[in-house]
Amino acid sequence: MNGGGWLRIVGLGPGPAKWLTAEVNSILHMATDVVGYQPYVEGLPSSVLAKRHPSGNGVELDRARMALQMAGGGARVAVVSGGDAGVFGMAAAVFEALEHGDPQWRLLDVEVMPGLTAVLAAAARIGAPLGHDFCVLSLSDHLKPWAIVEKRLRAASEGDFVLAIYNPSSRQRGASLRRALEQLKSDRGPETIAIVAANVGRPDEHLSITSLAALDHEAVDMRTLLIIGSSHTRSIQRPEQAPWVYTPRYYEPRP
Ligand code: SAH
Repeated sequence: MNGGGWLRIVGLGPGPAKWLTAEVNSILHMATDVVGYQPYVEGLPSSVLAKRHPSGNGVELDRARMALQMAGGGARVAVVSGGDAGVFGMAAAVFEALEHGDPQWRLLDVEVMPGLTAVLAAAARIGAPLGHDFCVLSLSDHLKPWAIVEKRLRAASEGDFVLAIYNPSSRQRGASLRRALEQLKSDRGPETIAIVAANVGRPDEHLSITSLAALDHEAVDMRTLLIIGSSHTRSIQRPEQAPWVYTPRYYEPRP
């Protein structure tokens, strides 16, 4: 059925071109069609000659079906996400559409290309906060009930994982962030290191290293991610510069 068509699901990295992999760059230049959330599709360099199919937020499954349909018709389709396509991105949406859609789609040439997910870029900016076990959670309760968010926050604290929180807040979800921070403060202690990383790699990048008690939730929006330290995460103060933050690689239980 494919007539030379293929589907590649690619992550564009957190922002700048230098954080887009060479592999993804070459896929974008081979594609006949690029499908994705409007700002990502429109932000592609002009050297990408593929036909662009931007769409709005919240239509991931429709977008995935459209991409599968086009690949089935012989097009070379790149489905794009920010960061890594497998981390709260388009890859899972494509597989969901594939599982429940036209059985012929299973014969298609489909591949996922890895990308640089935002928390890795944020962590690199401030040192090595992810030096030991960490977990990644989305605070968006659009796609899951709040009770699950709460349970996972608690489990991450119980396990003393460093925690990376994606989608920490939006205009509709300010209250969720406040609830989550209250819970984290009581589970981990107010002095726990907290990092607010906004627009990492973009012109308006801003990182702030603070504590759960001092974290200003007004500074947190949907272009931000949070890194919450474990009990072992430490900072190294420097004169006139932001401290380095790291989590030692060896875990020594504390009494
Ligand atoms: N697939 C993406 C994540 C999509 S979810 C990835 O792998 O990075 C969207 C969330 O990612 C945002 O709400 C924010 O929490 C985070 N994010 C993405 N890019 C970011 C950046 N440049 N700086 C800070 N956070 C970012």
